[in-house]
Amino acid sequence: MSEPTLSLGLTEDQLQLRDLVREVVKNEVVPARMELDEKNEYPRRVLEKFREAGIFQALFPEEYGGLGMGMMGNIILSEEIAYGCLGVGTAFLATKLGALPIEVGGTEEQKKKWLPLLASGEKVAAFGLTEPGAGSDVPALSTTAVKKGDKYILNGTKQWISGAGQADVYTVFALTAKDRGPRGMSCFIVEKGWKGFSFGKKEDKLGIRCSETRQLIFEDCEVPAENIISGKENNGFLHALKTLNLSRPAVAAQAVGTGQGAFDCAVQYAREREQFGVKIATFQAIQHMLADMAIRIEASRLLTYKAAALAEIGHKDTAKFSAMAKCFAADSAMAIATDAVQIYGGYGYTKEYPVEKYFRDAKILQIYEGTSQIQKNEIAAGLIKEAASKSRG
Ligand SMILES: Cc1cc2nc3c(=O)[nH]c(=O)nc-3n(C[C@H](O)[C@H](O)[C@H](O)COP(=O)(O)OP(=O)(O)OC[C@H]3O[C@@H](n4cnc5c(N)ncnc54)[C@H](O)[C@@H]3O)c2cc1C
Repeated sequence: MSEPTLSLGLTEDQLQLRDLVREVVKNEVVPARMELDEKNEYPRRVLEKFREAGIFQALFPEEYGGLGMGMMGNIILSEEIAYGCLGVGTAFLATKLGALPIEVGGTEEQKKKWLPLLASGEKVAAFGLTEPGAGSDVPALSTTAVKKGDKYILNGTKQWISGAGQADVYTVFALTAKDRGPRGMSCFIVEKGWKGFSFGKKEDKLGIRCSETRQLIFEDCEVPAENIISGKENNGFLHALKTLNLSRPAVAAQAVGTGQGAFDCAVQYAREREQFGVKIATFQAIQHMLADMAIRIEASRLLTYKAAALAEIGHKDTAKFSAMAKCFAADSAMAIATDAVQIYGGYGYTKEYPVEKYFRDAKILQIYEGTSQIQKNEIAAGLIKEAASKSRG
């Protein structure tokens, strides 16, 4: 993988983490990725290697059994794993996404109970927000949680949940006060195997095929009242927003890794393939494509690092920069993967070369954790609000 021109302020520990994960990706992810993709198979063995290497720990704070590598640790892991395979990267990061509502909103007791199990890799988590009728329109969700004694009774369906069926622990959003819309939403910790909690069929997807995606189905599922995150009702929307602000820079980093992976293949191929008696890398049309790809990668990486740095310190502009990084990096990864296929010509259109998979995988980056259109809506809404507060008129 080519080096960014500067270390971009990465510490010695962060550089070591990057080297470690690069090695694991090279040895465990790259050799397995095509077979996992073809078989639509969850990367259990690869994740076990991650666990052994302490890679799950690098996602979590020290006080809860992690390595305390912060947002930048998360960014490094996300980029490097996606460089090898975005499907594996999604299956891996699903645990962090599922853990974030506990991290941002959980009581101390909840954090101490769940986070160390996730940091050690002993248990895997997933995040259940989206519903069949509530995708971009999160406030339209209809899953309900009704208090009955010391339990909540959950009813409803969650759609497109990464890691569903494989994960042990789920953070699930449901309405505790139906008439209050998003302000009546709460988040619950639910375990696999509980009565009334089942899964839909495994989705047969275009890309990230080894990341298992299913519905979560709740039919009078009893959840202990102590499993409501924060211990209080109706804080769920806030937990969801805080989670997405922290997870979007990681998705942006996945996009950087995906783009870098596709680019590295394309530049190598352009140096080898001959047409009209010369290497295709000598054609200016190809060179300009490579230059545009490299510009997008570098710009995406810088924006991602900025979003991560702001998120790390809880800066007021975190939401805006997280959305900017996610949108720009995702759109860039799709464009880069498309050009990579173009540079391979017909060979790029076959499963014989990895650019075909980068192309299929990249598309999800523009969809999950908020589509590119939704990121732009959020950025614009923030900008307009900022302008209004600055206006002296
Ligand atoms: C493989 C995969 C994994 C996923 N993993 C998870 C997960 O782990 N947990 C989870 O909770 N969810 C997950 N999701 C759900 C994902 O976040 C949603 O698919 C996404 O938010 C879009 O929702 P939707 O699919 O219902 O599309 P819709 O909201 O129906 O959008 C359809 C189109 O309309 C556009 N659109 C909608 N509203 C607006 C608007 N106001 N302005 C402009 N354009 C708009 C969208 O941009 C899109 O182009 C996953 C999805 C997929 C496909």
